[in-house]
Amino acid sequence: MPPNSRDTVTGVLFESDVETVDGGLTKDVASLRTTDGSRLQLVWLNIVLFVIIHTASLYGVWLLLAEASWTTFLVFPPALLMTILGISTGAHRLWAHRTFKASTPLKLILLFLNTLAFQDAVYYWARDHRVHHKYTETDADPYNSQRGWFFSHIGWLCCRKHPEVVEKGKQIDLSDLEQDALVMFQKKYYLLLMPLICFVLPTVVPMYLWGESLKVSFLVMALLRWCVSLNLIWLLNSSAHKFGMKPYDKNICAVDQDFLIFCRVGEGYHNYHHVFPWDYKSSELGKYSQDITTKFIDFFAYLGWAYDLKSVPLDLVRRRAERTGDGSHPVWGWGDRDQRMEDIADTTITHQQRER
Ligand SMILES: [Zn+2]
Ligand SMILES: [Zn+2]
Repeated sequence: MPPNSRDTVTGVLFESDVETVDGGLTKDVASLRTTDGSRLQLVWLNIVLFVIIHTASLYGVWLLLAEASWTTFLVFPPALLMTILGISTGAHRLWAHRTFKASTPLKLILLFLNTLAFQDAVYYWARDHRVHHKYTETDADPYNSQRGWFFSHIGWLCCRKHPEVVEKGKQIDLSDLEQDALVMFQKKYYLLLMPLICFVLPTVVPMYLWGESLKVSFLVMALLRWCVSLNLIWLLNSSAHKFGMKPYDKNICAVDQDFLIFCRVGEGYHNYHHVFPWDYKSSELGKYSQDITTKFIDFFAYLGWAYDLKSVPLDLVRRRAERTGDGSHPVWGWGDRDQRMEDIADTTITHQQRER
């Protein structure tokens, strides 16, 4: 159980919660996953800003296709990928869930990429995400999917936080982040660093390095890149709690989703992730061929910059999937209860043991 916890939780959060994977299931917490349906207090400034950002980004799509230079066209996808990795590798897997440890140079890279993604400082992102996991699909969940797809996608940023989010957010243990000088540096200087790294740098670099126009540089490389990354990451809170399979735990709303697995660079194994949030792969072994985030961490582990990578043993994953999964998990191997009789009958078995 995480420190500072005073209430019944709806999910696991830290490595030390591993025992609740089994123990916690003896108590049915499904009834806690709901919303009181209280009226939302809209924040009109945010609504107007999001309308402007999305409209300008649509124009950015046109500019990318019709006006941008070939260099901008080719640099845009990797720039978008780097932006998303700042959230998936940095804020999510390193700082929110502590699935691995990072050296100072890697932390600096991840903080730079995270600031490029402008989703608030790592400190606040990790706090909200820890609350999301601990009180998932309740009014304390900042992106409570029980309020509908739109709310969990962008709606939660267009209204005041539910009092439960604020209350439970104060109980979350953030001492590890408070002891991280680099995270606290980003938090302290965020309002200075964010505009420079997320908007000024992506505008100035294309203008000076390959002579792109100011209009295309700002609307495509700064605004469109940021807006697309926001929406892809928000899909993790909205669609990944709605449409898909639940191979590991059918009692939670988080789902595994093929589309998101590709678009969210591996973060789409959301059913797995909510069951085993301390796994640095965010998926079980052998199932992450499209997971760029895991390969990114593996690369830095090869350099020695990422270390203490946590994984969940396959037999624990298998036992959990067999007990609480919805049956959508692929066949494990020979003799699996889901293996079809035809497949068993058609199998060739060589070098069979001789009768003695
Ligand atoms: Zn989730
Ligand atoms: Zn998470």
